[in-house]
Amino acid sequence: MTVHEGLNFAGGEWTPGTSGVTFRRHNPADLGDLVGEFPESSAEDVEAAVSGAVEGAALWGAAPAEKRADVLEAAARWLEERADDLVVELVREEGKTRAEAAMEISRTPRNLRFYAAEAHRIEGRSYPAADGGIVYTRREPVGVVGAITPWNFPLNIPSRKIGPALAAGNAVVFKPSPVTPLLAQRLVEALLAGGLPPQAIALVHGGAEAGAALAADERVGAVTFTGSTAAGRAVHAAMGPSRRCQLEMGGKNPVVVLEDADLDRAAQIIAKGAFGLSGQACTGTSRVIAHEAVHDELLERVARAADAKAVGNGLEAGVDMGPLAAGFQLEKFLDYVRIGEDEGAELVTGGRRLEGDGYFVRPAVFEGVAPEMRIAREEIFGPVLAFQRASGLGEAVALANATEYGLSAGIVTRDLERALEFARRSRSGLVKVNQPTSGMAMTVPFGGLGESSTQTFKEQAGPSMMLFYTQEKSIYISPR
Ligand code: NAD
Repeated sequence: MTVHEGLNFAGGEWTPGTSGVTFRRHNPADLGDLVGEFPESSAEDVEAAVSGAVEGAALWGAAPAEKRADVLEAAARWLEERADDLVVELVREEGKTRAEAAMEISRTPRNLRFYAAEAHRIEGRSYPAADGGIVYTRREPVGVVGAITPWNFPLNIPSRKIGPALAAGNAVVFKPSPVTPLLAQRLVEALLAGGLPPQAIALVHGGAEAGAALAADERVGAVTFTGSTAAGRAVHAAMGPSRRCQLEMGGKNPVVVLEDADLDRAAQIIAKGAFGLSGQACTGTSRVIAHEAVHDELLERVARAADAKAVGNGLEAGVDMGPLAAGFQLEKFLDYVRIGEDEGAELVTGGRRLEGDGYFVRPAVFEGVAPEMRIAREEIFGPVLAFQRASGLGEAVALANATEYGLSAGIVTRDLERALEFARRSRSGLVKVNQPTSGMAMTVPFGGLGESSTQTFKEQAGPSMMLFYTQEKSIYISPR
C-alpha cells in the first residue's frame, strides 16, 4: 500500500514543516500498515500559513459570487470522480466500514454544492432614511477563518466549515485532526483542482499546539471548531471578545423508549445510533432510558444486536463495525468499561478488546446505571451504552436532561402527543422521534445546547451557517 508523504500547504505552496518534526498515521485496522507521515506543524508554520491567508483573503474576497460558486462546484466534481479511491483511503485512515465511508464521501460534494449556491444568496437590507437618502446593510467576509476539526468525519465536517467560509469570500487556514491528515489533504487538493486561488487556503497538519497557535493569532477573525469540550474551551479562551468563535463539542445523547414502542424497531434505532461508526459519532446514542414495563425486553434485544455486530477491517465483506480510530480511543473505551464496573453498573455484554492487529472491540452494554455514575454523565465517544429505567415520561425527561451536554436526544413511541411533549421539554439542540440520535440533514441548522456548543453561532449546517462567515455593516447615505 502507498505510504503518503504529507505536506502542509501555506503561502500558495506545498511545503514540509519548518521544524522537520513529523508524525505517522497507521491504519487502525492493521497497525503494521503505515498510511503516511505528516509535518507536526509548529507555531512558526501556523504563523506563515496565516500570513499567506491574509493575502489570500484580499484576493478571494474580491472574487465574484459566480467564481466562488464555480470553484466549490468543481471541487465537488473532483471528489466525485475519485469517490472509489477516497472510500478506500477513508476506511484505511480512519477505520470506518466501507458503507460508512461511502456515505461520507457522497455527502461531502453535496455540502460543497449546497454552499456554492449560498454564495449567490449573500444579501443585505435597505431601510427608509428621513432625508430621502438610503440606509443599507451589506454582508462582508470576515477575512481569515481558522477551521479546526476532529477525525470522525474528516471530509464531511471540514466541508461544512470550509465550504461556507469560502462561499462567503474568506480565506481559510485548515488545521485538521492528526488522526486523519490524508483525507484533509484530499479536500485541499480538491479545492485547488477546482480553481481556488492557492493563497485562499492553507493546510497545517499537527495537533493541539498548531490548533492553539491558530486560535491565538489575532489576524484570524473567526475560528470554527469541532471537537471535544475541553479543547473547545481552550480555543474559546484564546479568542477573546473581539473575534468570532463557533464551537461544536461533545454529547451524551439519550434515547427514551416508552412502553408503547415497537421494541424490535426501538432496538434497531438504538443499535444504529450507539454502534454505528463504532460509537464514534458526536450525536451517537450513549444512554437508553427505558420505561420499566419494557426495560428488560428491550435490553435483551439491544444486547443481541450488540453481539451480532461483525467487527473487523471495514474493507472486508460482511463487516459492519470497524475498529476504534486510535490507541487513545481504545484506552478510553477500556477505561470506561472498568469505571462502569467499579461504579456498580452491570456489564451485560461486550466491553473487551478483540484479538487482531487493530483496535477492535466488542460493543459494551451496561444496565443498572445510576444518573450520578460517570458512565451516565461523561462522554465516552465509543460503543458503550448505559441503560436506565424510568416509570413514566416525566422521569424519563428528567433523566434525559440530567447532563451538562445537550447535543441530540431521541424518543421511541407511537404516541405523537408524548413525542411532541418530549421534543418541547428536551434540553437538546436536536430531537429525534423514532430515529437514531445520529444523522442530520445538510439543509437544517444543527448545533447543541449546554456544554455541546457555544451559544453564539451554533449552526453547523443549513443556510444560517453563512451568518458566521460574514459580518454585517450598516451604511447611511444622504443625497447631498
Ligand atoms: P479533540 O478535541 O481532541 O480535537 C479536535 C481538534 O482540536 C483537533 O484538530 C485537535 O488537534 C485540536 N485541538 C486539540 N486541543 C486543542 C487546543 N488546545 N487548541 C486548539 N486546537 C486543539 O477531539 P477529537 O478527538 O478529534 O474528536 C472527538 C470529539 O469531537 C468528541 O468530543 C466529539 O463529540 C466531538 N465532535 C463533535 C461534533 C459536533 O458537531 N458537536 C462532531 C464531531 C465530533
